[in-house]
Amino acid sequence: MKPDRSKVYDYRWRAIRKKFLSNYPLCVRCGHEATMIDHILPVFEGGTHDERNLQSMCVICHGVKTRKDLRRRKPETKLPDEVVSVTEIEKKKFIRAWGRGS
Ligand SMILES: [Zn+2]
Repeated sequence: MKPDRSKVYDYRWRAIRKKFLSNYPLCVRCGHEATMIDHILPVFEGGTHDERNLQSMCVICHGVKTRKDLRRRKPETKLPDEVVSVTEIEKKKFIRAWGRGS
């Protein structure tokens, strides 16, 4: 049985994500402002939205981890469209923010 992606990334996830980012606003890897929630064990490998499976990350660090996760992924499984599009949009925002200098 394949998990249903639309149910995995539904409104409950949005609420969890928002709450988690307000509790843990900094990237666990670099300490920059976090805008992404990473699943320590990826959802496509059976990870859940439980707080113990989540960590805050900035777009850059999340992108690095996602690429590593994807390398382990079976070729027939597909990344949910929402994850891809959000990541691309956030990445552009992030690059613009950094481009202004701190
Ligand atoms: Zn980071």
